[in-house]
Amino acid sequence: MRDILIRNADVVVTMDATRRELAGADVLLRGGVIAAVGQGLPALGAEVVEARGCVVTPGLVNTHHHLYQTLTRAVPGGQDALLFGWLKTLYPIWARFGPEEMFVSAQVGLAELALTGCSLSSDHLYLYPNGARLEDTIEAAATVGLRFHPTRGAMSIGESDGGLPPDSLVEREAAILEDMIRVVDAFHDATEGSMVRVGLAPCSPFSVSRDLMREAALLARDKGVMLHTHLAENDEDIAYSLAKFGVRPGQYAEDLGWTGPDVWHAHCVKLDAGEIDLFARSRTGVAHCPCSNCRLGSGIAPVRAMRDAGVPVGLGVDGSASNDAGNLINEARQALLLQRVARGADAMSAREVLEIATLGGAQVLGRGDCGALVPGKRADVAIWDVSGIEAAGSWDPVAALALCGPGRVRDLFVEGRRVVAGGQMVTVDLSTIVERQTALARKLRD
Ligand SMILES: [Zn+2]
Repeated sequence: MRDILIRNADVVVTMDATRRELAGADVLLRGGVIAAVGQGLPALGAEVVEARGCVVTPGLVNTHHHLYQTLTRAVPGGQDALLFGWLKTLYPIWARFGPEEMFVSAQVGLAELALTGCSLSSDHLYLYPNGARLEDTIEAAATVGLRFHPTRGAMSIGESDGGLPPDSLVEREAAILEDMIRVVDAFHDATEGSMVRVGLAPCSPFSVSRDLMREAALLARDKGVMLHTHLAENDEDIAYSLAKFGVRPGQYAEDLGWTGPDVWHAHCVKLDAGEIDLFARSRTGVAHCPCSNCRLGSGIAPVRAMRDAGVPVGLGVDGSASNDAGNLINEARQALLLQRVARGADAMSAREVLEIATLGGAQVLGRGDCGALVPGKRADVAIWDVSGIEAAGSWDPVAALALCGPGRVRDLFVEGRRVVAGGQMVTVDLSTIVERQTALARKLRD
């Protein structure tokens, strides 16, 4: 692979230890890693990518998604429902999915993320109807070219056992654990620069048993993989935990081994001070999904308090059924706005939210090798053209990324490979996958 020299960027946002921003700087990519960052780097036969008029940042990191849901965007019955009612509307539709639906919807979701600056995404796939498997999404990610952290999700408590999902969408717990072992053994790559890392992710405390939560935690530690689930998403969630388990979600998580630097929880909108302290002490991560929280009316996650306490926080677009967009740079803007609604205009700066969107997400996903433009880190780089209409007239191009735009990258490199060029996907034919997705959505609707 030829070296790539990104040259003459208006600003390179390094996210290094001192958060340096370098004006008129270059970034050299070699063999999948950042080889050098600085002014006036020699090309020495490298392919040169001009970045005048651009801001260069680490690729953004998406810490929570349900890619399959891109096939159920803006479903009428779910548009205005609260979380539990919304799930009940969508479960019967999802029950008709199979491998093709999983593959195509993942391609669409990941391409949308790529176009909005994301180089590393996790996914939480917790239903496997009609022969669908985790590898349907792993294969999709390979075609798009993003670094991918799929998680083997699960639901085991169906309607007949007092759960929320229909019985047809739940699995036996023994089969779940067996498949968790299978996918970790087959696809998890723990090495530095890995393109696929698998996590274990029972859907939520209300859709699996206490036993499965505990068993999944034991298995994850045994295999050296990460744990993920939904936690403390809204008031109903807290009430359910108190009524069913007699404890708040933080306590429930801790009791079952679901805290630690190898665990990250989605939402955490309703964490109280004691739970924030628990997460900070145990280095338990949070995937903050501001648009989803707004969309479902769940509330405002206490991100300011989490960050001040030292809780690792990343951003997540969440599933498209509850966003319904999958635009990660927009999620950064929303995170900033939402903290300000709760705490005032000085609650979160544009630079802090960019840090959460890049370095923060990488830390949450256990990727010390990603999230910063520092020699030796992986070559995951986003180039944002700030010479266009969205940022025209801005005095601070770095802050403009969160405050103005553009809402899309000009170029995106993952592991030193080009995924987006000139605002267009180069790895997949976008019109083909959109066409396939549209046809599948129509079939599900009719
Ligand atoms: Zn979710």
